[in-house]
Amino acid sequence: MTKTSESLVLVTCKAIAKHLSSTNMHYNWVIVLTWLSSFLGSKALPEVIKLGGLSESGNEVLQSAFRYAIDRINSDNYLLPNSRLSANVQQLEYQDSFQASRKACDLLDQGVAAIFGPQSIEPSATVQSTCDVLNVPHIETLWDFRARPDNHTVNLFPFANSLSKAYRDLVKSKEWKNFAIIYEENEALIRLEELLKDPLMREIKQKVLVKQLVPGQEYRKLLKEIGKAGVKNLIVDVPTENIVSFLKHAKEVDMMSEYYNYFITSLDLHTIDLEEFQYGGTNISGFRLVDDTAPEFEDISQVWHSGSVGFSHRKTKDKTYLKNITTEVALMYDAVKLFASALHEMDRRGQDVNLPAISCETEQPWSQGSLIVNYMRTITARGLTGEIKFDRYGFRSEFNLKLVDLTHEGLQEAGDWNLNVGIRITGNSTKAFEEVKASLKNKTLMITTIINPPYISLKEDTTLKDNNRYEGYCVDLIEEIAKVLGFKYVFREVADRTYGKKNEWGEWNGMIRELIEGKADLAVVDLTVTYEREDAVDFTMPFMNLGISILFKRPTKKVPKLFSFLSPLSLEVWVYMVTAFLGVSLFLFVVARFSPYEWTNPHPCDPHPDTLENQFTLLNTLWFTGGSLLQQGCEVTPRAMSTRVVSGIWWFFTLIMVSSYTANLAAFLTIQRMTSPIESAEDLAKQTSIQYGCLRSGSTQAFFKHSNFPTFKRMWNYMESARPSVFVDSNMKGVERVKKGNYALLMESTSIEYIIERNCDLMQIGGLLDSKGYGIATPSGSPYRTLLSSAILKLQEGGILQMLKQRWWKNEEKYCVMEETSHSVSASELGLDNVGGVFLVLSTGLCVACLIVILEFTWKLRTIPIEERESLCVELSRELKFAIMCGGDSKPVRKESSPPSNDLSLIQFSSLGNFNSKEAIS
Ligand code: ASP
Repeated sequence: MTKTSESLVLVTCKAIAKHLSSTNMHYNWVIVLTWLSSFLGSKALPEVIKLGGLSESGNEVLQSAFRYAIDRINSDNYLLPNSRLSANVQQLEYQDSFQASRKACDLLDQGVAAIFGPQSIEPSATVQSTCDVLNVPHIETLWDFRARPDNHTVNLFPFANSLSKAYRDLVKSKEWKNFAIIYEENEALIRLEELLKDPLMREIKQKVLVKQLVPGQEYRKLLKEIGKAGVKNLIVDVPTENIVSFLKHAKEVDMMSEYYNYFITSLDLHTIDLEEFQYGGTNISGFRLVDDTAPEFEDISQVWHSGSVGFSHRKTKDKTYLKNITTEVALMYDAVKLFASALHEMDRRGQDVNLPAISCETEQPWSQGSLIVNYMRTITARGLTGEIKFDRYGFRSEFNLKLVDLTHEGLQEAGDWNLNVGIRITGNSTKAFEEVKASLKNKTLMITTIINPPYISLKEDTTLKDNNRYEGYCVDLIEEIAKVLGFKYVFREVADRTYGKKNEWGEWNGMIRELIEGKADLAVVDLTVTYEREDAVDFTMPFMNLGISILFKRPTKKVPKLFSFLSPLSLEVWVYMVTAFLGVSLFLFVVARFSPYEWTNPHPCDPHPDTLENQFTLLNTLWFTGGSLLQQGCEVTPRAMSTRVVSGIWWFFTLIMVSSYTANLAAFLTIQRMTSPIESAEDLAKQTSIQYGCLRSGSTQAFFKHSNFPTFKRMWNYMESARPSVFVDSNMKGVERVKKGNYALLMESTSIEYIIERNCDLMQIGGLLDSKGYGIATPSGSPYRTLLSSAILKLQEGGILQMLKQRWWKNEEKYCVMEETSHSVSASELGLDNVGGVFLVLSTGLCVACLIVILEFTWKLRTIPIEERESLCVELSRELKFAIMCGGDSKPVRKESSPPSNDLSLIQFSSLGNFNSKEAIS
């Protein structure tokens, strides 16, 4: 092929390439060019290929890495066997863009095939634009979030967006309920962009703190602030060289305990000496790009260890030699290797490459620059940072990251990440578990608690010290757990004597706060596991199950009323009865008057009497109906049919009424009713006369506060607005209030059980309003939670928990004999209280009879002439004496004053009340 036809083909080829490149079809372009170059015949690469490097002051390590990479490739017989790479490195000031641009032109003038570096974003961007204009490959190894597709820059650093996804995936996999992002440079927020815009952030919005550190300033103040906010998970984005001082400051402010988790975004965590922190139990993790399984890895690290490239390195068995290879160094090596591989591939395909001097002044672009760039982007190489490949836009969006965790043995691989699979945790969890178990053995755990028998109470002996002062179910429980896990512990009462409640600003009080602030390792008492608390702390599996119920004073026996014999019939019925009695008597009187058969001969010996007599006088009628009402007979009996009908009906009426009365009276007098005014929470909610409340700042209060159930809502509205307050500061104070009466305490069933066992005058009302459990609380993310849970499970299966419950709940001394409630009734003998009223009525009747007899006596005395009688008192006492002395059945007749004009008035009264006709006639 002639020179003219050759250049014609090249021109055509470039035209096609230009068109294809404008449509982002680099692959096709390469294929077309490859085909054309084969068609043109094979051409050799130049013997010496110059590579330009721009090294900023302070980046000498990188310069050495660049030179080392070139040397290594030159000594490689396989890569570029016919050519030799030569380094042309230009030194420039740190972040000096002007100098960078000038030095880049100098390099191009010398005919370099590519420019590597510099490492800072601004100068690199300047070099990039120069290279873009002149079509010269520009190779970067820096994190650049402004990277655009379709330029002449090949950046080996993982694509910013993909890296951000890796950070997001890791944080999500940790399932943190809250965290803080601490960063120094503004770009950090771009690095964490994917995490910040993830829906997860909306879910836990209030619980994410984003804080910027002022570069160079101490970290302690900010760390303290974060610690105070109860945040235990931190994402730290500080320059690699500041990581150690950051961690040291964290240690100084007590933020390097086992409860803290740090995720360091730097990819160079493996290069830092973390020995100082590896035994503290703090979970420190990060990503590593450097792949220690790369074929040349061992080789390179050994060479660098020997100091041949100017570093002091250690080579030990335990991968500490990894420390020698920073991400930058590895990327620089890979950059040179990738470039060499691309040239090698071009050479293999017979691609002609010439290296002219390129002038920044003339701005004449290099015809083969783009070709090399596209070769670099299409081939796949394996380097110190794993597989190097680029996406269709020229970004290294697919790469592998190793997840590393700090353990007692230093940084260990715990998983990996790649774009397609996401995060994969492969860490040895059994080993981690064993490590935690071992660390717990030497620990003294601080336990926060609250005095509430039978869970925890103070012993009577006040001379006792420390843990010996306490006794109770929870003391025994922790003792048993400590036996299983082998830790020591110290009990300390919570300062504000509350369990833990969140206020409207999201701040906790009580034991929950002490856990959040790291003042305690465990909270052990009757601490209820709730959803809200789970957000702030961690709970073990429950060691006891319960629910809310009502504690109330047992109703006392009703004192029977004096006139309780009236109770069987209502007042209304009594009134009707009296009315019926009077009405029927009157009716009978009238009927008897009408009926001719009721008029009889008063002297049967006289067949023709002048007068007839009717026995149903008004008084006799009343006596008759009264006698039948009281189920007694009387000498008056009806003779006529009409009066017999009236009497029969009246007797029937009295039969039914008296039977009903008797039946009901038996029930009333023999059964003691002990009704409680409330039977359930609904009853409580409906009324206002009995006060009710619960423990302040506890889960019971929170239950009512957050309940949407109408009854509980109503109860909460009442409790919240009641004045004086119906909330109590402790269960014991609540019990005292219940005992005083007219107050019901909403309390947890297990506590109620304990209290009613010892207070026979108290009882539980109704069933359980909810169902929950008590658990041991630990700070969020505590490594001991799983261990404690398994110890509880073990105790449960061994029956120890049941035994402890028996020990602390059963009351040997006092056994309450349950008195009958309204649910169970039985008869008992009647006391004077029950029938006293009847006696009263009897005595009243007798008194009335006495009064009447005195009246009768006085009335009769009036008929005796004055000269014949003495004073009323003397007469009365004489008569009384006569009656008491049982002086006989007869006595002399006393003279009466003669009636004015009636001879027939031979009234024969023998004495007051004694009738003796014989004596009177004689
Ligand atoms: N055990 C409860 C708590 O943990 C106390 C209560 O509210 O009854 O808050």
